Amino acid sequence: MDELIGLGIACENCGRLRRLNKRQIASLIGARGIHTVEQLGRKLKCKVCAEQGKVSKNISIVPYYRCDEAASVAPYVKPKASSQGVTR
Ligand SMILES: [Zn+2]
Repeated sequence: MDELIGLGIACENCGRLRRLNKRQIASLIGARGIHTVEQLGRKLKCKVCAEQGKVSKNISIVPYYRCDEAASVAPYVKPKASSQGVTR
């Protein structure tokens, strides 16, 4: 995890995107004995969805590594409104 400079955490449910910096990741990892991004992903959940009693574990994680720091500036695309696709 040394090359990790940050993590993007997106909730698949509400589209909320959080970004953790290295220090925040370190504190998460240090407290829980986590060694991989995958393990970390299983521990994370969406606060907003959890508060609303919805599925909060539907999280996708985007790791940012030192080598692609420049490439990680891609804009976050907001998910479409839930009403879209209902063409009845
Ligand atoms: Zn959410």
